[in-house]
Amino acid sequence: MQFIDLKAQQTRIREKIETNIKKVLDHGNYIMGPEINQIEELLAHFVGTKYAISVASGTDALLMPLMAHEIGRGDAVFTTPFTFIATAEVIQLLGATPVFADILPDTYNIDPEKLEITIKKTIAEGKLKPKAIIPVDLFGQAADYDEIHAIAAKYDLLVLQDAAQSFGAAYKGKKTCANGHVAGTSFFPAKPLGAYGDGGMIFTNDSQMMEKLVSIRIHGKGSDKYDNIRIGINGRMDTMQAAILLAKMEIFPEEINLRQEKAQYYSNGLKNSVTVPVIRDYNVSAWAQYSILHPQRERVMNALKEQGIPTAVYYPLSLHLQGAFKHLPYQAGDFPISESISQQIFSIPMHPYLKKEEQDKIIQVINSVNG
Ligand SMILES: *Cc1c(COP(=O)(O)O)cnc(C)c1O
Repeated sequence: MQFIDLKAQQTRIREKIETNIKKVLDHGNYIMGPEINQIEELLAHFVGTKYAISVASGTDALLMPLMAHEIGRGDAVFTTPFTFIATAEVIQLLGATPVFADILPDTYNIDPEKLEITIKKTIAEGKLKPKAIIPVDLFGQAADYDEIHAIAAKYDLLVLQDAAQSFGAAYKGKKTCANGHVAGTSFFPAKPLGAYGDGGMIFTNDSQMMEKLVSIRIHGKGSDKYDNIRIGINGRMDTMQAAILLAKMEIFPEEINLRQEKAQYYSNGLKNSVTVPVIRDYNVSAWAQYSILHPQRERVMNALKEQGIPTAVYYPLSLHLQGAFKHLPYQAGDFPISESISQQIFSIPMHPYLKKEEQDKIIQVINSVNG
């Protein structure tokens, strides 16, 4: 059994993918070819933002808006300790300081109350200048943007939505990637909308932000490539990935619906034996992961493994306890919810093409461990 079955999807759209790849081979514009513009327009329309800027990865999709906002040494950027390393890594890369606030115990997204307490504390200490918040839409469910924006407005902070796991999801009727001042998503192959290589996209309605991002994406270009008005990066997505994403978008809305069905089926079957995901009634998750809690997860994961069923742990160690951040003033016990969840959580196979028999088997094995 596959944790994420990319083959089943490919079988459905193989012809379209080959046609699109062939077009790129024919025109030969491997960098910034016509498909780049096409996927940017398609996804801006899908999400409902004015602008979409394709980039080389989800990591660059977070790094570049911070660069555009001129975040650097002495600045505080607030985020969750329960996320993939990239979320906080980009803050540190620019010399700024990641400042963590603990998560909610049910959605595992940043807790707005704790966020505000942390901002106040940072201001009171007077060492760092609060500049931005990076909420993460963990496992595909949007963070609490109304509450987060209310706080951001109070302290004049940029909201950069880490939507790497939530492309295709919705928050209060609005597509994710349209919920921050700016948002970044990832097309890493295993994400809800995955390419066949690295890629990402930044979304915003802010024309100044857009213009800076377009410049940063090509080494800080001005009027042309050899006029450099700021420090940028090589942040381009290649044309081939855009061609593949165009093919995948034809079935993507249907896949998001299929993910709802698979998740519902899991939750119905598992809710009496493990803690199943909690999705707010105003949220639609993209179900990047289906993650459950069990106080003895090793037992359950081993039982699944014996039946050839793969599992994964996202995330085994909170970021404040990672070696990469040992220079930050944190210690075990600082973020008790995040630490406790990281010891109980694990994810089971999740993709739009799960078979009923596969789900039944997984449910049966998990429920039997409890008996
Ligand atoms: C995957 C991921 C990223 C980084 O995306 P890449 O395309 O791998 O660079 C950032 N944040 C979160 C939460 C992710 O899951």
